[in-house]
Amino acid sequence: MAKYDAALLGLPRRFVRRLQLPGHAVGPIGLPLAAGGLGYRTCWRSTADCAYLAAYMHTSHHFPKLFPHLADRFPPILDLVPAVGQPALAPSKQAEFASREFVRIVSDAPLVRDRIEGSASVMKHTQHVLSTIVSEAEARREVGLINAMDNPRLPRHMELYYSNCGDATTLAMLPTDATTTLSNPSFTGGITRRLLLSTHQVSRSERRRCLACHKSSTREHSVDEPGRSVNEFGDHIIGCKHMLPLRTKLWHDPLVHMWHQLAKMSGQSCGSEVTNLMVNSNKRADVVLYKGLYSVLTDVRTIAGGDQRYCCAAALSPGYGAAWGAAQKDAAWLAQARSQGDTFIALCHEAGGRAGRGCEIFLDQFCSVAAASQSERMAFRIYAFSATARGHFPRSGHAHQLPPGDAHGPGGPPEGLFAAGAPPRPRGR
Ligand SMILES: [Zn+2]
Repeated sequence: MAKYDAALLGLPRRFVRRLQLPGHAVGPIGLPLAAGGLGYRTCWRSTADCAYLAAYMHTSHHFPKLFPHLADRFPPILDLVPAVGQPALAPSKQAEFASREFVRIVSDAPLVRDRIEGSASVMKHTQHVLSTIVSEAEARREVGLINAMDNPRLPRHMELYYSNCGDATTLAMLPTDATTTLSNPSFTGGITRRLLLSTHQVSRSERRRCLACHKSSTREHSVDEPGRSVNEFGDHIIGCKHMLPLRTKLWHDPLVHMWHQLAKMSGQSCGSEVTNLMVNSNKRADVVLYKGLYSVLTDVRTIAGGDQRYCCAAALSPGYGAAWGAAQKDAAWLAQARSQGDTFIALCHEAGGRAGRGCEIFLDQFCSVAAASQSERMAFRIYAFSATARGHFPRSGHAHQLPPGDAHGPGGPPEGLFAAGAPPRPRGR
C-alpha cells in the first residue's frame, strides 16, 4: 500500500514536470475535489487506518453479544487508548493494530477522539465519519500552510485556493466528447495552478517584466510586491489590460459559446452576442433567452484574481470575487434591463473555477425545462457542470499559452517560451 501511495503521489509530480513538490502542493493531492484537491485518495493515509479502526469498533461492539468468550480480546478502543495515562496492554494483535491506528489518526485529527467519545460504542457509517473528520483536518492544515506563504496585503494563494474549492467537477468528469475533453497543455496548466505552483521558473535575482505592457517587478520576491505583481504565478499576464483581446478569445468567448450551447440543448429560444436589445445603448448581451413577453439577458465576466479591489475579501469569503464581478455587471445592466421589462443575470467565472450565483440561477432555468423527469434533469445538470468546467479550467492552462510574465533581465526570454497560441512578440523589444 505504501508503494501504491507513493506511485499515486508521484503522478501530479510528473504532470507538472517537477522532481519534487513543495509542502503546500503535496497536501492538496490527497484532498477531495470540493476541498480544492486533486481527489487522489491514498490507500494508507486516507483509507486504511480509518477502515481498520471502523472494522475494529464494529467488532468490539458486536462480539460481547455474538461471541462472549472472545469479547475480552476486543475491548473498546477508548479503553485501549485512554485520553490520559498510559495505554493499556493490548490483549490481541488486532487490538494492538487498532490502538496504533487510533493514535496515528488522533495525532492528525484530534476531533476523532471527541467524536467517538460523544457517540455510542459504534456509529452509523463509522468509516465515513472518521474519514470525513480526517479530511477536514487535512484541509485545515493546508489552509494554514497557504496562509503562511501568502502576502497579507494581497493573499492571492488563498484566493485561488478557495476558488479551486468551487470546482469539484473538472477533474471528475468523463471525457466523452470534445466539450468535456481537455488538451494536454490545458490539463498541465490547470493542475499547476490548482497545486498553487509557479507557472514559470524565476530565481529571486532575476527581474520579472510583462512582455505586453512592459510593467516590471519592483521587489526581489513576488510575494513582497504591493499590488498585483508581475509574478511567476501568471497573475499579471492574465489580468494585464494589453492582453484583453487574447484573454477574451481564450477564456471569455469559449464560456459564452458553452452557455449558448447549453441554452440550445435545453430547447429554448435563445441567441448569442445579440445587439439592439438594450434601448439607446451599445450593450451586447452574451447569451439571451427569449421568453415571449420578456428576455433574460446575460453577460459573462471572467475574474482574473489577484486584484487589490477584492483579493483580501475573497481570501476570507469563498466566492467573493464572483460576487464582486456580478455587482459591477448589475450596476451597468440591471436598471436599464428592468426598465424595459427584461431580466439580467451576470455570469461570473473565477480563475480557479468557482462560478458565481448568477450561473446557478441561469442553469436552473435550463434544467427546469430540459427534461421531464427528475433523473433526466439531474443528468443535464451534471453535463452542464462538466461543460462549464471545460470552459474555465483551460483558462488556468492558458497561463502557459500566454507569453510568460517573467522576462529575464538582459537578453529577454528564450524563444521556446512562446507556446502555440501566444501573440507575436510586442514591438520595441
Ligand atoms: Zn502587462
